[in-house]
Amino acid sequence: MSRILIIEDEQQLCRALCDNFAFEGYEVIVAGDGASGYSKATAEKPDVVILDLMLPRMSGYDVCRKLRADGVNTPILMLTARGEEADRIAGLDLGADDYVTKPFSLGELGARVRALLRRAGRLRAMPDKLQLEGIVIDFAAYEAHKDGIPLELTRKEFQLLRLLAARSGQAVTRDELLIEVWGEETYVTNRTVDTHVANLRAKIERDPRHPRRLLTVHGIGYRWDEQNSTKT
Ligand code: CA
Repeated sequence: MSRILIIEDEQQLCRALCDNFAFEGYEVIVAGDGASGYSKATAEKPDVVILDLMLPRMSGYDVCRKLRADGVNTPILMLTARGEEADRIAGLDLGADDYVTKPFSLGELGARVRALLRRAGRLRAMPDKLQLEGIVIDFAAYEAHKDGIPLELTRKEFQLLRLLAARSGQAVTRDELLIEVWGEETYVTNRTVDTHVANLRAKIERDPRHPRRLLTVHGIGYRWDEQNSTKT
């Protein structure tokens, strides 16, 4: 049984979400403000969090930022207002995994939550660690070090690299990377993948213009060459 934490201050909506997820077989935990949502997300170890943005005591952004800063990597789905694209992008940059725009259907929300849980399950089946020439990447903890010094990778960069490393030696298409790493988020395009790959190369390749590990497969996507690297 999956545990879901719902952080939402609108009582009517909160009750509807609660009833719906309980009916679907989830164990439901509820918080009516940001501060208690934050403490329940750390103490109760839910499998997935539904997080409203506008909350009393601590905003959804702050809850998300604080959880990620604490190393809590539970999938987070944000509830945002219609048409606020800047809000959605800010939320994803802070470490949310997906968002749904209000008003939404319970069916759509349920599908997104299931997709997040499936993605989290697939990530767990992938390598936890990758080591290459002085770089150690811990995918489970979302931590990376280069020559002992912390290397800043974004959440999406970790997920992208983990997926490519899991499939090392094989070409992975841009579409597949988009779906696995970004899911249903609608504003991202193939260019988003390319940008993230360029950023990753700048961080992990000795000469980013002539990459030796994160290789381009022309017309298809990318391939991880695991020569001189080990994954565990
Ligand atoms: Ca609210």
